[in-house]
Amino acid sequence: MWPVALYAIFGLVVGSFLNVCIYRIPRGKFFSSARSYCPHCGHTLQWYELIPLFSFLGLRGRCRVCHERISVRYPLVEAGNALLWALCFVQYGFGWYSILLAVVFSLLLVIACIDLDIMEIPNGLSVALLIVGIAPFVASFFEGSGLPYALPWWGYLVGIVAASVPLFLLALLTRGGIGGGDIKLMAAIGLFAGWQLTLLGALLGLILGGVAGVVQLVACGRNKRAMMPLAPFLALGMIVSLLWGGQLLALIF
Ligand SMILES: [Zn+2]
Repeated sequence: MWPVALYAIFGLVVGSFLNVCIYRIPRGKFFSSARSYCPHCGHTLQWYELIPLFSFLGLRGRCRVCHERISVRYPLVEAGNALLWALCFVQYGFGWYSILLAVVFSLLLVIACIDLDIMEIPNGLSVALLIVGIAPFVASFFEGSGLPYALPWWGYLVGIVAASVPLFLLALLTRGGIGGGDIKLMAAIGLFAGWQLTLLGALLGLILGGVAGVVQLVACGRNKRAMMPLAPFLALGMIVSLLWGGQLLALIF
């Protein structure tokens, strides 16, 4: 029981840091040493206002000083990251793979939120995904490396192009909807996931994004339709694929 709780607690704490990343990276002050503050009144947050999840609940979702509402996304990112980290352990047990997978999920969470906010994926985050992806590729050369999937080394390299190239062609055909950031994202995560899970994840993401697009079209009408970011759906597709893709593929074939 305790290891899953440990993953969840670490996930919660890291989730709090992810909120900082989501706020600061698009504003170009990631490395600023300024302490976290209320975006409404500028009041510097005290330690007891920075406890993941519990501070939000304790403050009932409002700033202690100006009583302005705090975005519900802060606790959602924290709880969501805790859940994702716990799922990594439940699926793959304690080991280097589940820890790296948790890092990948956190990066995907940050990418999804930033894409929602500014319709852009910072390149640095995709590069970070690519760097994490070197580990499974290297491990694939060794017996008993702890990789959950028995994929030869080239399966990871092919992962880089498995979804990114079809997406690139699709972007040329549709002229919109799919951006360069989405393509780079799928290339980067392809090295970590290998070609099968990357294809599956991209497919799931496109289906989810397509369904959401139709729902939005019906709800808002053609003219009022806002641009919809794709990365949150690709991220969700990849998370499902990386957690349960093995079972899903076994079920299909
Ligand atoms: Zn405030």
